[in-house]
Amino acid sequence: MKEITVSKLQEAMLSVADEIIKNEPYLTEVDTIIGDGDHGTGMKRGFTALRAMLTQSRFQTADELFKAVGMELVKTMGGASGVIFGTMFIGGLDRIAGLESVGADPLAGFFEDGYAAIQRRGKARAGQKTMLDALIPAAGAMRKAADSGVDADEALRAGYEAACAGVEATKEMQSRVGRSKNFQEASRGLPDPGAISTSLIFKALYMTVCES
Ligand code: ADP
Ligand code: MG
Repeated sequence: MKEITVSKLQEAMLSVADEIIKNEPYLTEVDTIIGDGDHGTGMKRGFTALRAMLTQSRFQTADELFKAVGMELVKTMGGASGVIFGTMFIGGLDRIAGLESVGADPLAGFFEDGYAAIQRRGKARAGQKTMLDALIPAAGAMRKAADSGVDADEALRAGYEAACAGVEATKEMQSRVGRSKNFQEASRGLPDPGAISTSLIFKALYMTVCES
């Protein structure tokens, strides 16, 4: 599929919500060992509200859709991760402004600007065992795919694969600065929960778009 329509993107975001909600126990399990245990419930709360909002709304353009998505997450999830995952969908709106269907290039730009905005807000760098370690490679792979001239669904597949590789890579990373040394040791070998969530988002986006 060369370009993805706004209604297909909306359908894909509904699948994203289902995927996150379905994986709440797994996200909770990992975040209980590696963090404060609230990542699964926070994500489930946000994406349940997102699901309800999406079933009641219609959007003309891609930026209208993703602005509403991001705002709903910030509003309902709360905390650091509400801002982080909201910003993932809000930070790159300029790249898709006014588009009724989205090709590989604007979609790659959307995620590139999304991660840059998360970095400006959260000050984390690549390699610090966060969701950025899935999102940055995913956006990078999409950029490479887009620059080689592939269709939007193919670019999303590249993004999904890179996000999964990113999750794997977080297993060997030391967790973020500011955590205790004991905690850093305990987190070794386990993936970062936010990185898992990011790969689930790309998974459901790709699966829905490639179905058609
Ligand atoms: P909180 O940290 O508020 O308890 P969650 O538990 O829901 O929020 O989310 C934790 C996830 O958020 C981590 O696994 C990590 O991927 C992501 N995260 C935390 N801080 C940052 C940051 N500064 N930049 C990017 N991602 C971050
Ligand atoms: Mg937490």
